[in-house]
Amino acid sequence: MNAPRPQLANAVEVIDLTKRYAQGRPAVDAINLRIASASYCCLLGPSGCGKSTTLRMIAGHENVSSGDILLEGRNITDLPAALRGTAMMFQSFALFPHLSALDNVAFSLTMKGVGKAERKKRAAELLERVAMGHLAERKPAELSGGQQQRVALARALITQPRVLLLDEPLSALDPFLRIQMRAELRRWQKELGLTFIHVTHSQEEAMALADTMVVMNHGVIEQVGSPHEVYNRPASEFVARFMGGHNVIDTPHGRVGVRTDQMLVRPEAASLPAGPHNLQAVVTDVEYQGTYVLLGLQKPGVVMNAATTAELSVMLPEATFARQPHAVGDAVQLHWLPESAHALAR
Ligand code: ADP
Repeated sequence: MNAPRPQLANAVEVIDLTKRYAQGRPAVDAINLRIASASYCCLLGPSGCGKSTTLRMIAGHENVSSGDILLEGRNITDLPAALRGTAMMFQSFALFPHLSALDNVAFSLTMKGVGKAERKKRAAELLERVAMGHLAERKPAELSGGQQQRVALARALITQPRVLLLDEPLSALDPFLRIQMRAELRRWQKELGLTFIHVTHSQEEAMALADTMVVMNHGVIEQVGSPHEVYNRPASEFVARFMGGHNVIDTPHGRVGVRTDQMLVRPEAASLPAGPHNLQAVVTDVEYQGTYVLLGLQKPGVVMNAATTAELSVMLPEATFARQPHAVGDAVQLHWLPESAHALAR
């Protein structure tokens, strides 16, 4: 007989959590969520979908209207932020510019009345831990973006949190630094073995970082899953469109999502009879992207003007396009394998 598989403990459990700021639709509407210990969770969704409100309620920076928040089984819903076992890392790290790295890290201990020698010792230990011990006396302006991030991490860790909450920490950085910093965040999360909950509006960032992605829209959770699951099996039309890289197509079998790189193109002359896995289209854009060429397409008969955007996209490997090029105005047939199409809830 097989031994029972050990249950992964949840670091955070959110039960029927609701936040109402005003009359009408709640900002967060009775969401339920379990976040596994020592995992990297990203709350993802468009602006205004309720992800920061959710994070702030977990942090204790926002009261809940109803529902519960458990941290490692403890109900923390009504505890003050400092007693929850969470710590927050903010956008652009929000370091105090006039304090050294060491004093930035020691700051929250000052607020807790810990003596100076003890504060400095604990802050120095943490800076060592994030490989910043040698730069402890520098001010933030004298540190690179990566070094500032490590100071911000040490500052958050000094309260010995069980869960680190990150509110768009990378969104104000330039694109190059953002990619470097996210790799570093991921490394630290694994090395520290802590639970990270990271709010972002960037699909790419969430895919790169998350063990678990939570896709939100209008205050509710649309889908929870690994990046692979969410990208390959978007549960709804919203998720398929928001994640990008998918066409949403009405077929006789209902509305389906098909990845743009799993669509195939035949010249119209080679068309098969119309069926559930093909459709006629006209090329409206051809964009060279290096390793691939992105075709924009419309259904036949749609009059194109400056305001019309392509309704369908196909990503063709550069070599495929070179063998069979397509130009704007070409009539083609798009087709896909039945297993490439996934039913979408509306
Ligand atoms: P996101 O982080 O996904 O961009 P938020 O959680 O900040 O979204 O906001 C969710 C909704 O709640 C939005 O409609 C926003 O306008 C509203 N909201 C957020 N904070 C407040 C507030 N302090 N007072 C009133 N409405 C708010």
